[in-house]
Amino acid sequence: MKVVTIVGARPQFIKAAVVSRALARDRQDVQEVLVHTGQHYDANMSDVFFDELDIPRPGHHLGIGGGSHGQNTGRMIEQIEVLLLSEKPDWVLVYGDTDSTLAGALAASKLHIPVAHVEAGLRSYNRRMPEEINRVLTDHLASLLLVPSERASGNLRSEGITGPKVQVAGDVMYDAALYYREKARRPKAEALDAVEDGDFALCTIHRAENTDDHARLQGILDGLAALPIAVILPLHPRTRARVAAAGIPFPGNVRVIDPVGYLEMVWLEANCRVVLTDSGGVQKEAYFHGKPCITLRDETEWVELVDIGANRIVGTSSAAIQQAYAEMLEREVPKDVQPYGKGRAADLVVAAL
Ligand code: UDP
Repeated sequence: MKVVTIVGARPQFIKAAVVSRALARDRQDVQEVLVHTGQHYDANMSDVFFDELDIPRPGHHLGIGGGSHGQNTGRMIEQIEVLLLSEKPDWVLVYGDTDSTLAGALAASKLHIPVAHVEAGLRSYNRRMPEEINRVLTDHLASLLLVPSERASGNLRSEGITGPKVQVAGDVMYDAALYYREKARRPKAEALDAVEDGDFALCTIHRAENTDDHARLQGILDGLAALPIAVILPLHPRTRARVAAAGIPFPGNVRVIDPVGYLEMVWLEANCRVVLTDSGGVQKEAYFHGKPCITLRDETEWVELVDIGANRIVGTSSAAIQQAYAEMLEREVPKDVQPYGKGRAADLVVAAL
């Protein structure tokens, strides 16, 4: 069997790492060809993950990044189609909700190549998010939908996607959190020199709805400024560009560092007091490492963590962030509930393929 895996963005490298490892370990009869679309191209948004996580080198690098959604998706479809015609795989494997995911799903399905979607069934029910559009369309094109939770399976059911093609696999990011926990390491950044382990908040901001809206960005930075704790902020390139363009200064308690590799990120998550984020993956990782999470959005796809009280959705107003911080610090994150499987999602993905 031959599988063409399409990745392009940071969280996909992490997800693909665990599935590719399971494939290589258990199924030598399966040939995997990795395609990197180039959506994320900075060394610290891409290369570091391939170096640290032993991901197979991409068989094809499309070098498509930096354009608009339409430009990127269109160019990706064009190139992926050519490549699928020559590779002739039995499956195309896509992850998550990026333009690379949708481009892979569209190119493959029009060539009648079955698409497997890992992290299927998530919904924010906010169609202003490009990610929501990508994931809804990909789910409707996929022949195999590997969902992380029962709730995600219910979301698909309500759109008429049912039957054996929907399989509850659990979350491959939980597998990654367990596997890499032992290998985590403290970032070397100078900004962390005066910060005590266990006594800082960890923040990530990268979603377009926050970075591209001046009032929301300002609200978040005002909220962080008012927190009585050092905030480590590994800054996504898009956010760096938007903050610079808007001329907003970083508050004194916010220590900005470059994006870190996954092993350093795991260390930050495991050693902080609280996480503030608009990332999908980081919301879950906070929980996997026993930390309360404050989500800087108006909704989340990972509703299970809100239901059990481990995560709170606060939006981006400074007052709401401060109030949530005070309340979440007091909160014991539950340890006995795991809505996202048993840490063996990658094995289930491989078995399903
Ligand atoms: N991450 C990382 N370094 C960073 C910030 C995030 O390795 O500086 C990892 C994080 O641990 C998680 C993934 O990137 O596994 C989340 O990616 P991102 O927030 O970019 O995307 P989302 O999950 O929102 O789709």
